[in-house]
Amino acid sequence: MTAIATLGSHCALQVLKGAKDEGLKTILVCEKRRERLYRRFSFIDEIFLVDTFAEILEQKCQSTLQQNNAILVPHGTLIAQMNSEQIESIKTPIFGNKWILRWESDRIMKEKLMREAKLPVPKAVTNPRDIDKLVIVKRQGAAGGKGYFLAANEEDYNVKRNKLISQGVITKEESLYIQEYASGVLAYLQFFYSPIKEELEFFGADQRHESDIEGLARIPSEEQIKIDKVPSFNVIGNSPIVLRESLLDEVYAMGDNFVDAAKRMVAPGMNGPFCIEGVYDENAKFTAFEFSARIVAGTSIYMDGSPYYSLLFNESMSMGKRIAREVKTAKELNQLDKITT
Ligand code: AMP
Repeated sequence: MTAIATLGSHCALQVLKGAKDEGLKTILVCEKRRERLYRRFSFIDEIFLVDTFAEILEQKCQSTLQQNNAILVPHGTLIAQMNSEQIESIKTPIFGNKWILRWESDRIMKEKLMREAKLPVPKAVTNPRDIDKLVIVKRQGAAGGKGYFLAANEEDYNVKRNKLISQGVITKEESLYIQEYASGVLAYLQFFYSPIKEELEFFGADQRHESDIEGLARIPSEEQIKIDKVPSFNVIGNSPIVLRESLLDEVYAMGDNFVDAAKRMVAPGMNGPFCIEGVYDENAKFTAFEFSARIVAGTSIYMDGSPYYSLLFNESMSMGKRIAREVKTAKELNQLDKITT
């Protein structure tokens, strides 16, 4: 029997519920402090307790996963808490392409892949001296928007950076990535690419709610001005958005281009779930500032199926269930090596 395993955080509930619904065994690698939460859910067959997620690299955890023929579904927590070398050294087969996760974590590689995919990316600013319009300053990796800040010029950049350093939010050594700020309606486009069917599916879209930038937007500008705090973009939750149907053709084209570029740049390509993140401006032109090369937490909005998947499947299909379905199909066809790395 094949099992699906994942780390206890991010979108673990959705992933394991989907696996259970597909008749697969479910294993959660869980920090002890979160055990109480996850014990509440009967679809989790086995909980492997750890002090920190880094224990997934240790023999004990790896052999448990191996004995269960487990496939590990990577999510944002894996990327946030482990570096690329650690992720790549995991012996358990990883759903999708573990090599592409490095391209997600490293801002320079990320921009390269997005350009290769012809995604309309905002201009990067290499030197703070060259900031001449509103920019967003980001940290490396999947920081979830924590420690990000906006800057209008070099001085503004230095003041805010120093403030965050003195508050211990970022470190002095940390290399920051500066990108032009793109304003518009947020849309995080969620896809699934099946290397078995060689088909791209558009699953859905979501928006993120980020604190404290969102809280700030709720108060009048006279009050905003008085606040002496660098607002962060820390993700608190997600909500659904359905796009104008006239935008869908371009959405699929962006997804296709991304899959094609990933095939060229990082074998075996962008297999499984991924997300292209950006904004639509007043002319409905999309600017993509980010991608995630694995399942995003925003898919958990649609645990009971998404509007777009209801067009493709005559059953409720979450992203977690879609992943498990792909594992089952691959197993039946003896092609597990096609969907894991
Ligand atoms: P990221 O880690 O790149 O997904 O960024 C976290 C959040 O910062 C996003 O959800 C957006 O709200 C915001 N953001 C990132 N890049 C940009 C950009 N270039 N223009 C506008 N907002 C951005």
